[in-house]
Amino acid sequence: MTREPGPQAATPGLLLDEAARRRLWRTLEGFIEDYVRRVDTLPVAPRLDMPALRALLAPFTFESPRAPDELVPQIASALVEHQVHVAHPCYFGLFNPAPSTLGIAGEVIAAALNPQLAAWSHSPLAAEIERHVIRALGGLFWDGDADGTFTTAGAEANMTAVLCALAHRWPNALADGVRALPQSPVCYVSAEGHHSFVKAARNAGLGDRAVRHVPVRGDLTMDPQQLRALIAADRAAGCDPFLVVATAGTTGTGTIDPLGAVAEIARAEGAWFHVDAAWGGAARIAPAWRAALAGIEEADSVTIDAHKWLSVPMTAGLFLTRNHDILSKTFAFDTAYMPREGREFSPVDAYAHSIQWSRRFAGLKVFLSLAAAGWDGYAATVSHMFEVGALLRERLAAAGWRIVNQTPLPVVCFTPADAAWTLDDHQAVVNAVVRSGRAWLSTIVTGTGQPALRACITNYRTSSEHIDTLVDACGAARRAHRA
Ligand SMILES: *Cc1c(COP(=O)(O)O)cnc(C)c1O
Repeated sequence: MTREPGPQAATPGLLLDEAARRRLWRTLEGFIEDYVRRVDTLPVAPRLDMPALRALLAPFTFESPRAPDELVPQIASALVEHQVHVAHPCYFGLFNPAPSTLGIAGEVIAAALNPQLAAWSHSPLAAEIERHVIRALGGLFWDGDADGTFTTAGAEANMTAVLCALAHRWPNALADGVRALPQSPVCYVSAEGHHSFVKAARNAGLGDRAVRHVPVRGDLTMDPQQLRALIAADRAAGCDPFLVVATAGTTGTGTIDPLGAVAEIARAEGAWFHVDAAWGGAARIAPAWRAALAGIEEADSVTIDAHKWLSVPMTAGLFLTRNHDILSKTFAFDTAYMPREGREFSPVDAYAHSIQWSRRFAGLKVFLSLAAAGWDGYAATVSHMFEVGALLRERLAAAGWRIVNQTPLPVVCFTPADAAWTLDDHQAVVNAVVRSGRAWLSTIVTGTGQPALRACITNYRTSSEHIDTLVDACGAARRAHRA
């Protein structure tokens, strides 16, 4: 008896044959190595040209298959032409790193193996690698093992903090929703804090107005007196403070809130204390700078982004907490369809421990980078970036700029020492520098209303020659702007 042949597994285009695969891998290897080697020779930022992008994509109607040998190099080199090169040592930007070599390797392995991390038993080693990294990074902030979860990024980690704080104060809110709460929940973050908390409040059904923006002092740090006053006024108005957030390294100016003082107020109010250290948290790795974040050990939870100062490819955020019950309390589910093997080990199933369900293996690139560099390697890198930041402050002051932010962290906000410039004046200088292709920086308006240029050391390869390029480019743009 002969059977009709069934559907064939061959799916041209999805799985290439071995020879074509090997060619593709070699192409990728060459592409990656070439990019890493010559990124510092590229213009830091692209020319922005929407019609050109649309024209480039228009031929891709997906009507007929394309040859991978041409397709991949074409798109890869077009991407190089059309992006800000955050890996360029003259990128003084928004915390985006030059990716570590092991981080790139981790991404490749994760993509090839495609482990599903939702349920522990599907990828037990991958899951345990993430637990291991969570405990290791938790050690930067607390004695004893921390709990936590990898998140897509800092915004999800902050969202996790809001949900955990809600569940901690009102376990009933998980089932009944925030509308059933007897009083209006309110949370507090500095006026310089990250807007992901506003988004989180929206997503949680609390609404924008549940977020109180605590005024800052002249040095842009949260004013604890104002925090106390706001809380008192909210209580008098029938609101219930459930979460206080301090920022350790604000996004705009790198300011560190007075963590100990804020912790004390949160504690006295019975509120969850979260520290948003998305970028600045890595300062804890460098022994000389550990004390800059003193008080962070009082936090109930911390946000840290490995794709910022730990220099892994985007993205890898973490929500860390010393409360070992809260994530399961907030996110636990039991389903009939999720795998049940491995229960005898009482594993952490990520789907019941975090916001995400299906999840990619974000932890591998962090694990490999940490394992290859070691704490000492990271301490050297972080310290180097502190030193380059200090050098930038020095050079700018010598070149007639005034530094307007006070932080030990390597983000520098500056304005002409001898002129009162508007935001537009500063933006004109940024536009000229960015257009020159020599460097990338941005503008900022600080919490005291001061517009400024903003340059952050985000790249472990940035050194004094790149500082010279930046100071020179800013000086040239400033002279041209005046003329
Ligand atoms: C970057 C940042 C965030 C947001 O993190 P993403 O990784 O961009 O989602 C939140 N808070 C602070 C202080 C940040 O610097």
